[in-house]
Amino acid sequence: MDCIFCAIANKEIPSQIVFENDNLVAFRDLNPQAPVHILVVPKMHISSMNEITSENSHITAEIFEVINKIAEKENIKDSGYRVISNCGEDGCQSVKHLHFHLIGGKKLSETLS
Ligand code: C5P
Repeated sequence: MDCIFCAIANKEIPSQIVFENDNLVAFRDLNPQAPVHILVVPKMHISSMNEITSENSHITAEIFEVINKIAEKENIKDSGYRVISNCGEDGCQSVKHLHFHLIGGKKLSETLS
């Protein structure tokens, strides 16, 4: 399977990793939309939020446990941040491997769409 985020998770292509454990990896987005823009990704290939099941949902739970630790390390925990996961065509998901954008470091737009 040709998946860019699997390749990043397997260290086949380089990325700026900020956190890693057995189940997930977090790295800086190549095209940041804010001073802090980190992608948090399960190492296991899960295509999108549509594929979260009772068998793999513990990894998503772990991702959310880790996100606030990364936010603390990036000094945005107190000022605030946003977490986004785009899903499918209307959601403008471009990489078909589940990922959560952690965005912050500036006052974000009030609009979500
Ligand atoms: O939610 P969406 O699928 O559009 O987000 C994919 C994100 O992955 C983009 O923000 C893009 O900049 C990022 N990306 C990356 N490194 C790559 C390929 C994509 O940071 N090698």
